[in-house]
Amino acid sequence: MTQTFPKTNRNRVKRLAERGHYDADVIYPIIDEALICHVSFMHDGQPFIIPTLHARDNDRILLHGSQANRMLRHLEAGGEVCIAFTLVDGLVIARSVFHHSINYRSAVVFGKGELIEGKEAQYQALEVFMDKFMPERWNDSRVPNEVEMVQTTIVSVPIESASAKVRVGPPKDDAEDFESPYWSGVLPFQASYGTPITDPTLKEGIEVPDYVRNYRLKRP
Ligand SMILES: Cc1cc2nc3c(=O)[nH]c(=O)nc-3n(C[C@H](O)[C@H](O)[C@H](O)COP(=O)(O)OP(=O)(O)OC[C@H]3O[C@@H](n4cnc5c(N)ncnc54)[C@H](O)[C@@H]3O)c2cc1C
Repeated sequence: MTQTFPKTNRNRVKRLAERGHYDADVIYPIIDEALICHVSFMHDGQPFIIPTLHARDNDRILLHGSQANRMLRHLEAGGEVCIAFTLVDGLVIARSVFHHSINYRSAVVFGKGELIEGKEAQYQALEVFMDKFMPERWNDSRVPNEVEMVQTTIVSVPIESASAKVRVGPPKDDAEDFESPYWSGVLPFQASYGTPITDPTLKEGIEVPDYVRNYRLKRP
């Protein structure tokens, strides 16, 4: 059965509420497709927001980085965060300036940090992380050694509450502008990866792996 996050004061979409979604079936694919997220938190009364990589492991978000990282130290101590994931699908070009918009899929998640401890759990989390970054790469690169593991903090944020907001379709001009002479429509946006550039220090004879050459954005 689809998991639905209850609507509360934290996650209820208020403006254009019909664009709001609360089902994990809508929210999780946005999280998975987003290459990065933005994590916001309070530290000594000051709000911060930090862009970072992420991966979703079932109902939790994994984040990782240097053990000196302030955001991770906040999460390691069980601190609260709000995380935003944003995908842009196109520019909506209306006849009127007022109705110009953007087609997008975005998700906002709330939760508290939990430190991932123990070698096995940490390696498992890093494997999930790498698999999101690039499938097949975990088994085709050197795994972290003990020193690297000590320098790395891995935390999870179990998703307590979440919402998605999605805009699709053409401009929503007012009927009285339909006869105006201005073009209107949608300019689709598509990000793509280019041709792989081999590291100049790479030992001779190592070909670009197929999983790199054929890597595509996770567009459904
Ligand atoms: C696309 C992307 C992916 C990233 N992925 C990761 C990741 O997976 N793990 C990870 O540890 N780090 C990641 N980073 C780096 C991350 O954004 C932070 O810079 C880092 O986590 C903490 O740096 P710090 O300790 O110097 O900053 P903090 O002590 O957290 O911040 C100090 C101040 O430095 C400034 N600052 C910090 N980071 C940035 C930034 N990115 N851009 C502009 N100003 C900044 C801000 O003013 C901030 O208040 C990523 C960055 C980007 C842009």
